[in-house]
Amino acid sequence: MNASVLVINCGSSSIKYALIEADPQAPRLGGIAERLGSADARLKGNDSNGESFTKPLPSADHTQALSAILTSLEGREPTAVGHRIVHGGEHFTQAALIDAHVISAIQATAALAPLHNPANLAGIAATQKVFPNLPQVAVFDTAFHQTLPPHAYRYALPEALYTDHGIRRYGFHGTSHAYVSQRAGELSSRGAGGWLTAHLGNGCSTSAVWHNQSLDTSMGLTPLEGLVMGTRSGDVDPGLHAHLHHQLGWSLDEIDNVLNKQSGLLGLSGLTNDMREIEQAAEQGHAGAALALDVFCYRIAKSLAGLSCALPQLDGVIFTGGIGENSPQVRRRVVSLLPHFGFALDEARNAALIRGKEGKLDSAHHTGPELWVIPTDEEGRIAMETRHCLEAHA
Ligand code: ADP
Repeated sequence: MNASVLVINCGSSSIKYALIEADPQAPRLGGIAERLGSADARLKGNDSNGESFTKPLPSADHTQALSAILTSLEGREPTAVGHRIVHGGEHFTQAALIDAHVISAIQATAALAPLHNPANLAGIAATQKVFPNLPQVAVFDTAFHQTLPPHAYRYALPEALYTDHGIRRYGFHGTSHAYVSQRAGELSSRGAGGWLTAHLGNGCSTSAVWHNQSLDTSMGLTPLEGLVMGTRSGDVDPGLHAHLHHQLGWSLDEIDNVLNKQSGLLGLSGLTNDMREIEQAAEQGHAGAALALDVFCYRIAKSLAGLSCALPQLDGVIFTGGIGENSPQVRRRVVSLLPHFGFALDEARNAALIRGKEGKLDSAHHTGPELWVIPTDEEGRIAMETRHCLEAHA
C-alpha cells in the first residue's frame, strides 16, 4: 500500500506531526503545534527543503492546529492518519483501524494512562473533524510488549489486583524497541536473534527482544519503572511512598510529582535533566553531575544484565534515543560495566557514531555479541504499522 501517512502524536497542549510517504527517500514534512489553548500557541515545522518555519496560532485549539498543519503540507494530501496512542492495555496487541469500538476500548484503558490517553483521544476527535474521509489507525506504545510471558509481566501482588484492575507490567516505547531490533536483524549477519535494546532519551527504557518479539522490558504499569531518566526516578523501593507520607507528611500527588518531575538526572545533579549539560558539568568537576552520570550508566548496565535472562541467546545490544545515539561516553561506560558479556567496543567507531549515524561499534574481527547504534524512527514505524493495518483491512 502506498499510503501517504500523517503521523500524529497528540498531547494535552501539543500536536507533533510528520507526513511520511511510502517511498523512504521522499522528504518528510513535520513539526509541532505547541502551547495550544494559550495566547502564544504556534506551529513550528520544516518544509521539504529542510527549512524551518514558525507560525503564530493565537489561542488555537487542537482542531484549529490540525487545520494549520494541513495547510503547511505544501499541497501534499495525506491518504491515512496514524495516531500514537500511549496505552492500549491488554486489549491491543497490534495497530487497530479506528472505529467506535476502538475508541471505547481506548477510553476504557484511560485509567491506566490518565494524562495521555484522554489527550490522544482528543487528537483522534479533532483529526476526524479536519480529515473526515481519511482512514485513521491507532498505534500503541504498549502493543509490542504484549508478547511478554506472565512471569515477566506479573507483579507479585494479590491476584485480584491483576484480574480486576489490570495491575501488571505493560512496557512503553514499543515502536522504538520494535524498530531498532528489527533493523538490527536486517543489518547484522546474526539476523533476528536475541537483542537487548536501550532507548535512552528523556524517557529511558530497555527491552529484551527474541526474533522480533519482546520478552521483557524495564518499564511497567507506568513509564516510571526501570531506568533513571531525565526527571523520573525509575525504580525505587516501593516502601518509599509510605515512608515519605508518614515521615514527611507528603501527599500522594506530591510524591508522584517528585518521582516523575524532580528526580532522575535532574534530582541527582541538582542542575539539569539534559545529558549534554550533565556531561559538560561532570567534566568541569560538578560532583552532582558526576554522580548522576554514574548512577545513570550503572542502572542501564544492571538492567541489560537482568534482561539478558529473558533471552535464550545474546546477539547484541542496540543503543538508540537522543542519548544512545549521541553520547559515546554513556555507551562506553555502560559497556565497560558488562565485562562478562564479551563485547569489544572500538573507541574510534564509538566516537564517530553520533548525529543520526547508524552502525556497529565492534572492533574488527570481533565474533562475540555485537554493539550497535541505530537511530530510532518511531514516526516511520507508526507509518509502516498504519499501512500494514490498512492492508489487512483492504
Ligand atoms: P525524547 O525522549 O524527548 O524524544 P530525545 O530522544 O531527543 O528525547 O533525547 C533527549 C536527550 O538526549 C537529552 O538528555 C539530551 O541531552 C540528549 N542528547 C542529545 N544530544 C546529545 C549529545 N550530543 N550528547 C549527549 N546527550 C545528548
